[in-house]
Amino acid sequence: MQTMAKIIHYRNKCIGCGICYEQQPAFWRMSKKDGKATLLKATAKKDLFILSIPLDAVEHTKEIAKACPVRIIKVN
Ligand code: SF4
Repeated sequence: MQTMAKIIHYRNKCIGCGICYEQQPAFWRMSKKDGKATLLKATAKKDLFILSIPLDAVEHTKEIAKACPVRIIKVN
C-alpha cells in the first residue's frame, strides 16, 4: 500500500509570490537569498526539488499547486 506521495517543485521558475508558504508553512520557506520558495527538507534532482509527504497532506497540497500562479508545484 502506498503511504506517501511526493511534491515536486520546479524552483527555478518560482516568481516568489509567497502563496505556497502562506498556505502551507510546514513545507515551505521564502528564501532571503533569492526571494524564491524553498521546499523544506527536499531532495534536489537537477533543477527539481522533491519531498515525500504523507497522504493526508495531498489534498491541501493539490490546492496550493493550483493556486501557484506559474504552476510549478506538482503532486503525485
Ligand atoms: S506559489 Fe509558486 S510562484 Fe508562488 S512562491 Fe510558491 S512556488 Fe513560487
